[in-house]
Amino acid sequence: MIKYKTREEIELMRESAQLVSKTLGMLAPKIVPGAIPLELDKMAEEFIRDHGGEPGFLGMYGFPNSLCMSPNAQVVHGIPSKDPLKEGDILSVDCGVYMNEFYGDHAYTFAVGEVDADTKRLLADTKESLYVGIREVVVGNRIGDIGAAIQEFTEARGYGIVRELVGHGLGRKMHEEPQVPNYGRRGRGKKIQEGLVIAIEPMTNLGTHRIKQLKDGWTILTADGKNSAHFEHDVAVVDGKPEILSTFQYIYDALGIEPEEYEKV
Ligand code: MG
Ligand code: MG
Repeated sequence: MIKYKTREEIELMRESAQLVSKTLGMLAPKIVPGAIPLELDKMAEEFIRDHGGEPGFLGMYGFPNSLCMSPNAQVVHGIPSKDPLKEGDILSVDCGVYMNEFYGDHAYTFAVGEVDADTKRLLADTKESLYVGIREVVVGNRIGDIGAAIQEFTEARGYGIVRELVGHGLGRKMHEEPQVPNYGRRGRGKKIQEGLVIAIEPMTNLGTHRIKQLKDGWTILTADGKNSAHFEHDVAVVDGKPEILSTFQYIYDALGIEPEEYEKV
């Protein structure tokens, strides 16, 4: 059953989402060659607790850390390692916060120094595909319209869009109904209604959409070893339209990046 949120609940969720946003912004300038993911994870945990939240992922389903950190061919659910980041790597950072009895959950893929042209394009296009999906979150549409729009955009540019992992409803639980796939058919799935809050999170591969899992029981990586990107926002339906509760602005402020035109919604 989908748990639709009141305006008051959405405001509480915005605070949880914004603490994730600030955590990612705090990390952004530290994601450089030589940085140790496990140390960044500890900084994030401290930052979240100092700001009145709890790390949302720590201990969830038995996950050992506060952040999922997935470099290069890792798609999602990577465990922060002691291996230093290298020039030309990419690093997907997924962060969850529990605060005010609600979860925030979003993700950004960072370039570590200068990355190759194909990878740069992968990051830009995956981020844009997230907003292509968000634009479909209007009353009158269906959940399938979100995935269909993301899949059309992604496959037209020659990428593989991951099927096995999906976005989700968000609220007092990290994963609520409905599932929000990044592929699908228009006109399918539940109707989008006022008060829906979902996490939309395209996972896009430079090569095949196929994935495999490491023996650690967590890390998902691309089947062909090519790079993968992951961007995620928390989105509420307010007055029939999408309202993004999270923001990448703290990351942009830290890195001196201008938001794209399509982000100014
Ligand atoms: Mg996430
Ligand atoms: Mg999520």
